[in-house]
Amino acid sequence: MDHYLLLMTEPDRFKPCPICGKPADAKLTPFCSPRCADVDLNRWLVGVYAIPVEEDEDAGDAEAAAEQLRDRKA
Ligand SMILES: [Zn+2]
Repeated sequence: MDHYLLLMTEPDRFKPCPICGKPADAKLTPFCSPRCADVDLNRWLVGVYAIPVEEDEDAGDAEAAAEQLRDRKA
């Protein structure tokens, strides 16, 4: 039961790497190695790009906001 309590209170420390299942590195939690972190990042990016998003609209808003900031500074 102690192990279960530790899992509940400090899940990141005891959670295994989601990529390969090895114990996670404290610095790279929840991953065990930079390689596994990269694998997860790539999976995440693939998932993001698989979803249709209207990027043009967002980019336009961001550019307009940046221009407004530039105008204020000038
Ligand atoms: Zn791993």
